[in-house]
Amino acid sequence: MGFETGKFVPGVEKDKRCLLCNLVLDNPIKTPCGHLFCSGCILPWVVQHKNCPLCYQTIQTCELENELYLRDFILNSTVRCEFRTQGCTKIVRLLDSELHGKHCEFRPVKCPNLGCDAVLRSRELETHKSTKCPFRDAFICSEGCGLPLLQELQETHDCVTALTSQIAIYENQLNNMEIGLNNMTIQFNKKENCFINQIASLHGELKLQAINFRKKMILCQRMTTDNNFMVSLLVGCC
Ligand SMILES: [Zn+2]
Ligand SMILES: [Zn+2]
Ligand SMILES: [Zn+2]
Ligand SMILES: [Zn+2]
Ligand SMILES: [Zn+2]
Repeated sequence: MGFETGKFVPGVEKDKRCLLCNLVLDNPIKTPCGHLFCSGCILPWVVQHKNCPLCYQTIQTCELENELYLRDFILNSTVRCEFRTQGCTKIVRLLDSELHGKHCEFRPVKCPNLGCDAVLRSRELETHKSTKCPFRDAFICSEGCGLPLLQELQETHDCVTALTSQIAIYENQLNNMEIGLNNMTIQFNKKENCFINQIASLHGELKLQAINFRKKMILCQRMTTDNNFMVSLLVGCC
């Protein structure tokens, strides 16, 4: 799969997109018929189908060529930080984007304090952890439940009640995860169908072109025979 097109600034020309996944080419590969695909998209296809997915020309994996110049061009293109929706406005080379992402001060991080589920931007973590986090002084209950316990709740704490509400929270999280998973499966199926339809319509277009070419060929053949006939008539006259 290629790189998401929307993150490139300024945009990327259409000829730098993979003809299979329609994303910006990742490790571009050229087929002998001149079509460009990501290596991760075309290799499994050629292994399985032994042809070009666009024009159906028969090809072998050994005929595929790395487009190194194009690969370097794309790697040096500039992209927005993957945490732009979290507020990062940095624009970096695609080549450096992974490293930037690892250190970006807008990347989401989970509070490491026991019992705290807060997820914050990396640059807010220190302040949260040491001054704002309600769990900064939490300790583990030694009465049996083993849950993180806030100092001020120590006197009213009851292990069974605490465990019951903890289980309810987990069940809720589990439900949400299942819903998310179902949605993802539905979206994935939709995408797969869309992809199959795209290929089918391309296939149809090419078939139509082939029929048109065949018609033209028959017309040309007929014209040649007519010409030959005329020539033979003319020769006969002389
Ligand atoms: Zn691709
Ligand atoms: Zn082709
Ligand atoms: Zn960033
Ligand atoms: Zn916290
Ligand atoms: Zn307890």
